Amino acid sequence: MTKQYTYKFRIYPNRDQITFLDEQIGCNRFIYNFFLERTVNLFKVHNIKFNYYESKKIIPLLKKGFPFLLNANSQSLQATLKNLDTAFKNLFQHRAKFPNFKKKVNTNSIEIPQHFTVKDNFLHIPKLKSAIKIKLHRRFYEFAKSVKITKTPSGKYYVNILVEKYDYTPYMPDKVKNIVSGADLGIKDFAVITTGKSIADKQTIKINNPKYLIKSQEKLIKQSRQLSKKQHKKTKNDKTKASNNYKKYSKKLTKLHEHIGNQRKDFLHKLSSRAVNDSQVIVLEDLNIKGMVKNRHLSKSISDVSWGMFTGQLKYKADWYGRDIIKVNRFYPSSKTCSVPACGYIKQDLKLSDRFWTCPECNTTHDRDINASINLFLEGLNLTIRPEWSELTPAEYAPAGIQSIGYSHHTMKQEEAYQLIDR
Ligand SMILES: [Zn+2]
Repeated sequence: MTKQYTYKFRIYPNRDQITFLDEQIGCNRFIYNFFLERTVNLFKVHNIKFNYYESKKIIPLLKKGFPFLLNANSQSLQATLKNLDTAFKNLFQHRAKFPNFKKKVNTNSIEIPQHFTVKDNFLHIPKLKSAIKIKLHRRFYEFAKSVKITKTPSGKYYVNILVEKYDYTPYMPDKVKNIVSGADLGIKDFAVITTGKSIADKQTIKINNPKYLIKSQEKLIKQSRQLSKKQHKKTKNDKTKASNNYKKYSKKLTKLHEHIGNQRKDFLHKLSSRAVNDSQVIVLEDLNIKGMVKNRHLSKSISDVSWGMFTGQLKYKADWYGRDIIKVNRFYPSSKTCSVPACGYIKQDLKLSDRFWTCPECNTTHDRDINASINLFLEGLNLTIRPEWSELTPAEYAPAGIQSIGYSHHTMKQEEAYQLIDR
């Protein structure tokens, strides 16, 4: 089995190297936008779809019309074209929206598929004579397949090194085997997670949105307000020039955005690593239902971005360490179902504002989010087919009371209610 993954390092180009990298990035942005526009026009007029190989043949001709492209690394240009190809494939398979034109102000990147070396804290790339300083904060020994250089809006440069490892078998420590975690991602707390091997030994913890993230977010709102008060162009045709103060504040804001992004990533990486380290199976709820909730509260805006990033990281890490992620269909009533195994009553009229509710059947009072996480955990126990269980009779391996939260309460079939991601 072959595994691919990336290492990310910060690089420190000098002034000349920055000029070079920005030129390369510009050429690739040009190619991407050129072919995107061409495709749009061809499609409008002749109903012709994008074709990678046909487009590749046009690049040498383009170089005659746009001589600045002569300085570009041809392999990078082809990689950019390939990315556009992927974007269109994703579009037609309904995995993504229509590709956007690349803008200079956004994060931009170039891929270098060949002829690069990473050695002794220096990165060599084609067409650049000098080597770029790289901060290798970790060693790696795997074969590097390609590199991607990224420039952030505030002008930092990073390199992503794609490596490949052969004969990979995920290592599963004994202490993790058969441990199930049910994670309810929420607005008030970032997550409520119930973990255990059985109903008897389960434990539930609440994970708050970190205070520093909330503080940064508040700062962001304040700074955005300050910025909007400075003299600047307010509409497209507005001739007002942006004041120096506006530019200064705008730069500050860009930096803060990046800082928050890093803080968030850091928090989510720690949390997702911990979840994967602790369990063999992680059960999550489909997030769409919560995405539809209209709530302008501050913590909501933090959650919004974080949920997607967190599940992405979980999926990636689970895949790497051989763990399973089970996504429960959004119609499964995890908050409304009483999590007492012998009960399983469904409170149909539970409102979003109800943080607590008492079950009329068994009289248990539930914290909404804890209840949801326990239900996800129970579903995980229910769904996990464990090797040692297969030798037992069904009655023996079904944890006590589990059937009572089974599918008789809602009409959906088990196969419809769950999807195992990529497995
Ligand atoms: Zn109950």
